[in-house]
Amino acid sequence: MAITQDRKLPPPEPNPETQPFWDAAARGQLLLKRCAACGERHYYPRALCPFCFSDKTEWEPASGAGKIYSFSVMRRVPVPYAIAYVTLAEGVTMLTNVVDCDLGRIRIGQDVRLVFKPTDGGPRVPMFTPV
Ligand SMILES: [Zn+2]
Repeated sequence: MAITQDRKLPPPEPNPETQPFWDAAARGQLLLKRCAACGERHYYPRALCPFCFSDKTEWEPASGAGKIYSFSVMRRVPVPYAIAYVTLAEGVTMLTNVVDCDLGRIRIGQDVRLVFKPTDGGPRVPMFTPV
């Protein structure tokens, strides 16, 4: 099967809570949030820690390395794509897409790395491709 095509992606809508995340994405960097109170990291970025509800959360860059935790291939659409949960080296799991690969060869446990994909007039979004 052929390598995936790029889909036209709707632009994310940054808000004050997520603006630093999208600004970093524009520079090619993935930011996570880490809670200074309990030490847990989380994604998607929120002002309050989802574990202990502290507002002492800080931005922290992610390495961009991860593994596929689970995935599903969407084939009954004009441009087939893979949606996946990727667990980052930092321990956080992201709902994302696996791109630039043969959709028939994606496997659970596969190592992936971060790539950013352009959106339709908005910030770039983080996705992953097999290593
Ligand atoms: Zn916390």
